[in-house]
Amino acid sequence: VAMVQSPIQAFTRLLNQLQQSLVSYGRIQSILQERPQVLNAADPKPFPQFSKGIVLDHVNFTYDAAKQPETHDATLKDISFTIPYGKTTALVGRSGSGKTTITRLIDRFYDLESGRITFDGVPIQSIDIASLRRNIAIVSQDIFIIDGSIRNNILYGRPDATDAEVWEVARLADLETFIQELPDQLDTQVGERGVKLSGGQKQRVSIARALLKNAPIIILDEATASLDNQSEKAIQHALNNLLESRTSLVIAHRLSTIHDADQIIVLENGRVVETGTHESLLKAGGAYKKLYDAQFE
Ligand code: ADP
Ligand code: MG
Repeated sequence: VAMVQSPIQAFTRLLNQLQQSLVSYGRIQSILQERPQVLNAADPKPFPQFSKGIVLDHVNFTYDAAKQPETHDATLKDISFTIPYGKTTALVGRSGSGKTTITRLIDRFYDLESGRITFDGVPIQSIDIASLRRNIAIVSQDIFIIDGSIRNNILYGRPDATDAEVWEVARLADLETFIQELPDQLDTQVGERGVKLSGGQKQRVSIARALLKNAPIIILDEATASLDNQSEKAIQHALNNLLESRTSLVIAHRLSTIHDADQIIVLENGRVVETGTHESLLKAGGAYKKLYDAQFE
């Protein structure tokens, strides 16, 4: 007997399919909820002609605010400070005080709970997200290395760059001699997860990428934390090349590396507790001095 699908059967099948897609829609929702989506404004603006700075104005933020709206202890509490154009601002504080979270808000990986972040007065939510991120380069201790050539790893910063540009940033990142001595030079394969590169060389590759990206704003989040003292000193020169004439936010594990910052912001448990220069904060004898003494005693 030839089976002709009855309308009822067709409808049952449709219901099944609908149910299945509802299940996977639910699953997608639960994945998205782990990191709430950031969305472009209806009429997003390009990143502004940048010449004044970034302002954080009474910023509050909590990772799981939705879960415990009343009882939660906010991750960032009433954070206000300015990152002036062309200067180096350092962010210090114990592990867990909220330093990395601030960098994620500036890159709009998350939206604020309340308060404002502006770039030359333009609210972060109104700036086109891709345009915002093109203007910010982040170097952290988590380095993503592609299983491919050194050239492709550096090009990750700006895929359309020429070989001459790649060599130029390799020089500024103090990678030039190392690459010149390799048999295949820029074509040298770095191996899976960059096994053929040392920790310091991987960090230099990430600095070269950031240089190639040529963003006006640089964030260094414990960029040298995984390196020993010797390698950290060696890489400082490359980092200085990266920071030169840019607006930067530097988070450093070792306080010795931020002595020369134009401004130091001290965080404690999600709050700004002190602001000043290395000298003024040592003289003040507060939270910064305590952190400093703990590191050098
Ligand atoms: P720091 O960089 O100063 O060490 P973080 O900004 O990484 O501090 O963390 C601040 C607080 O937020 C810590 O209590 C940390 O456990 C918490 N935290 C960090 N990332 C997340 C996340 N993705 N989800 C939930 N809590 C987080
Ligand atoms: Mg951190």
